[in-house]
Amino acid sequence: MELFPNITVITTRTALVRSKIPGVDYVINPYLGCGHGCRYCYAVFMRKYSRNHARSAWGEFVEAKVNIAEVLQAELSRKKRRGRVLLSSVCDPYQPAELKCRLTRSCITILGEYGWGVDLLTRSPLVCRDLDLLTALPDVSVGLSIPTDDDRVRQTLEPQAPPIGARVAALQRLRQAGLKPWVFIAPMLPLNPERLYELLAPHTGRVMVDPLNYRGQVRALFRSRGWDYYLTDAYAAATRARLEELFGGRDI
Ligand code: SF4
Repeated sequence: MELFPNITVITTRTALVRSKIPGVDYVINPYLGCGHGCRYCYAVFMRKYSRNHARSAWGEFVEAKVNIAEVLQAELSRKKRRGRVLLSSVCDPYQPAELKCRLTRSCITILGEYGWGVDLLTRSPLVCRDLDLLTALPDVSVGLSIPTDDDRVRQTLEPQAPPIGARVAALQRLRQAGLKPWVFIAPMLPLNPERLYELLAPHTGRVMVDPLNYRGQVRALFRSRGWDYYLTDAYAAATRARLEELFGGRDI
């Protein structure tokens, strides 16, 4: 995997950010920006928090919070109760910059030392680099985002994110390591439910689905591909129903 070329080093004053996401107490985002550059990304608003890249295209910059592990350690040492943390909410914790910067790995190491619960959600097989660490954690959940079965769709909408086949292979490795990974089919991009089920079912039955919420952002692109139907409520409802039917009740 090529290193993301444009990494800016920054420092942060906070690591843990309170969250209203169900099931977690805090989120940690080791990076500002995301090298995966998904065309539909909901996190593009984060650009306004960048001193260096407020006008850069999303996906073409990433800022690495190089002191985040140190800050996290100090924050955890002051907490009276353990909590649960999601990495990440507005970036991918295993985006290409992580290969070099290892900030996610450092944060997970510290969270494990303090016995905190960790939820990881990523599009990248780079998560498998940390299997040694993840399998030793007392309480961890790993999710792979796999929003389509069709790698041509992935190339159009997630141009810098790893191929679908590589994510499925990562799922397999995580499961073989005993981690019971789950899949976030989100956002539901153009997909074939039966084919996606065939790809995922051998490796997990635990899936969550979510529709494409920021449709305006990709409307022109979808139109240019003749994908108008995939932006409709009818597509979202029918696809969710079929996926729930296919995966219903399975938990392996
Ligand atoms: S991986 Fe997630 S945070 Fe990164 S660009 Fe894609 S949707 Fe946005």
